[in-house]
Amino acid sequence: MRTIAIEEHFSTPQCQTDLQKITGQVMFAPLMAEIGQKLLDLGDGRLSDMDAAGIDMQVLSLSGFGIYQLDPATGTALARDCNDALAAAVRTHPDRFAGFAFVALQDPEGAAAELERCVTRLGFKGAMVSGTINGRFLDDPSFQPVLAAAEQLDVPIYLHPGPPPPDVFKAYFSGLPAGVGGALATAGWGWHVENGLHSLRLVASGVFDRFPKLQLIIGHMGENIPFSLARAEERLAPVTSHLQRRVPDYFHTNFHLTTSGYFTMQPLLCALTVFGADRIIFAVDYPYSANTTGRNFLNAAPISPGDLEKIAHLNAERLLKL
Ligand code: ZN
Repeated sequence: MRTIAIEEHFSTPQCQTDLQKITGQVMFAPLMAEIGQKLLDLGDGRLSDMDAAGIDMQVLSLSGFGIYQLDPATGTALARDCNDALAAAVRTHPDRFAGFAFVALQDPEGAAAELERCVTRLGFKGAMVSGTINGRFLDDPSFQPVLAAAEQLDVPIYLHPGPPPPDVFKAYFSGLPAGVGGALATAGWGWHVENGLHSLRLVASGVFDRFPKLQLIIGHMGENIPFSLARAEERLAPVTSHLQRRVPDYFHTNFHLTTSGYFTMQPLLCALTVFGADRIIFAVDYPYSANTTGRNFLNAAPISPGDLEKIAHLNAERLLKL
């Protein structure tokens, strides 16, 4: 079965050097030594790891935590260099790799222009956003040029989580044993919850009434949204009369979710029940998760062959025009 994984990360030596000074080293110190080299490999090592797991294609995105904290000119230049490096890898292995653009959102107009360059000139399939942008969410009016560009270019935005703002870290994740705060703030809990909130903010603020064709992708089996959507709708309905549709309707028409890093059956069954197989796409989150773990999970999923084909490749091919 053709298998496409769409939340798969890379980096460049320049990016790793620049960003470790800002945030990555703090959050990922125990992991970075092991996976830092895998992020840099856009050739044989990555391909053999994909082959061993039975993954035909990776849609690659920059592991770019910290770029938003650079000054706009520096961030824009670094993102552009990383996009060019990714484009070169895709050109070398067009049947194995595709790309999402990373744009420096602290400069929204520049970010929109870079997204257009990446899609129209480099053939990229969408954009990857990493969490909040210096404390702001994408529903902030300043980001409308980027949302408008994505809608106009007919490419999705992959809303990836990122480390919380410093004030949030201090209030929610300090005073814990060494390493626990950082883990809870990120993949251990916090950034998934924040990304679910980010998604709900986009819906509840009316972003999809302004950009009705805009498509978002959220990873990690929907960042807790499938589990909590009915409750959110119950409490948001009385205060969202400004919206043209009900909150769940936007999730069913403007969102896809992926399996990245969530390889147990209960969350998958919840996501299938709430979103349906047409809106779920396979992803591993390589190299933060292992290709074999993700692929074995897919093999073991108790779903019909037709739904399995949708999740493994058909939905990705449709949404990303692969
Ligand atoms: Zn990821």
